[in-house]
Amino acid sequence: MALMNAKEYVDSLRKLHTKVYLFGERVENFVDHPIIRPSINSVAMTYALAQQEEYQDIMTAYSELTGTRVNRFCHLHQSTEDLMNKVKMQRLLGQKTGVCFQRCVGMDAINAVYSTTYEVDQKYKTEYHARFLEFLKYVQENDLTVDGAMTDPKGDRGLPPSRQADPDLFLHIVEKNEKGIIVNGAKAHQTGSVNSHEHLIMPTQAMKEEDKAYAVSFAVPADAEGIVMIYGRQSCDTRKLEGNNCMDCGNCRFGGQEALFVFDHVVVPWERVFLCEEYEFAGMLVERFAGYHRQSYGGCKVGVGDVLIGATALAAEANGAAKASHIKDKLIEMTHLNETLYSCGIACSALGHETAAGNYEIDNLLANVCKQNVTRFPYEIARLAQDIAGGLMVTMPSQSDFDSEEVGEYCRKYFKGQAEMDTMDRMKVLRLIENLTLGTAAVGYLTESMHGAGSPQAQRIMISRQWDLEEKKNYARRLCGIGGAQTDGEE
Ligand code: SF4
Ligand code: FE
Repeated sequence: MALMNAKEYVDSLRKLHTKVYLFGERVENFVDHPIIRPSINSVAMTYALAQQEEYQDIMTAYSELTGTRVNRFCHLHQSTEDLMNKVKMQRLLGQKTGVCFQRCVGMDAINAVYSTTYEVDQKYKTEYHARFLEFLKYVQENDLTVDGAMTDPKGDRGLPPSRQADPDLFLHIVEKNEKGIIVNGAKAHQTGSVNSHEHLIMPTQAMKEEDKAYAVSFAVPADAEGIVMIYGRQSCDTRKLEGNNCMDCGNCRFGGQEALFVFDHVVVPWERVFLCEEYEFAGMLVERFAGYHRQSYGGCKVGVGDVLIGATALAAEANGAAKASHIKDKLIEMTHLNETLYSCGIACSALGHETAAGNYEIDNLLANVCKQNVTRFPYEIARLAQDIAGGLMVTMPSQSDFDSEEVGEYCRKYFKGQAEMDTMDRMKVLRLIENLTLGTAAVGYLTESMHGAGSPQAQRIMISRQWDLEEKKNYARRLCGIGGAQTDGEE
């Protein structure tokens, strides 16, 4: 099958029997639900752009597995150029949607599981890698969206998986038989899970022998028996239920999505099991997935940042303040921060390397620096956007008031800004900034920047593992003459 277009992707979701709950009720037709649909539109954009000639090189890549071009979201990175194209693709999609477009978690999981299964097989003569290749071929040939699922609920953070009061707080194997494994547990905060065809499950942290039942990786289709998804609420999400009041949503066409993903005795056949109790590889898989996803943020958040900077510049124009030097300076600062994030995403890609399995992974230290910056800079960019936008962003009336026969005239009269800008356009831009910094899109642009791909402390631990502080001390020792050490080139 060739690459799917956006409509085919949306229609393909209709064929699944994904069990979705929202506001306490089962949503039979989740594809057309007004709160869910914008998030589907975002994933659909990953299909739509892959169809466009001008984006072919960024959105698609040649797969040796299928002998065809595949969507880059299903691709195994073959070079540092592939890694950089991934980041460029994510920036592009952030610009086009202004939200989290969700499909990257699968791409990052695919690349992490590919290289890890190869190394597990080397050690244990298992057949995980060959199984995984079969799964990946199926994904590539059918251009599927894969949810990469890692984060367990974790219960008491002070206890390992096997010592939790409730064993299901970490996803685990409850039974092994001749057909496969049966698993129980959940994955929390699952980006794009409702919009995915397949789910690639990974352990959530490094494991010890006592936790080996929790060291498990496998793939399941979205509508496998025993899977339930409970949709996550987002700030201001019910504005999407207000019919044609698009202005109040800020960005009515696109959205992000997270869900609680429950596994209630789900059966996984052996051909879809990619790690089963080899606990010493859980940490490797986690680090590789996290590294890729920390790189990802140097693309997607930058694209969304581009939208926010643009909206802020428009708001300044609407206020008649665009020429003020401090406004220009703040826009420069926002751009500087945004491009710094992009630089990190590109740098960790450019310094990537080949894995034993043959795909490419990023420079892990720089990917962690990238994500650490992402935990901060979007907040500062958002602060500056709110500074320039002004308080009207959160005090303005609803679109219904602007449309009202009784008070609409007052609204349009008193919220007029710079003469050439239509009042309603001014309101739309302010609502977009509200959406990005306080509304549904702020989940992706701010909170996810903090906690997605690991919270800030997770990156600091990884930075401290790779900083080579002893070598840095030696540089200092040589220069100031401690211990008689000499600098290079000195006689
Ligand atoms: Fe992709 Fe960014 Fe969303 Fe992660 S947060 S899935 S990298 S858009
Ligand atoms: Fe994320």
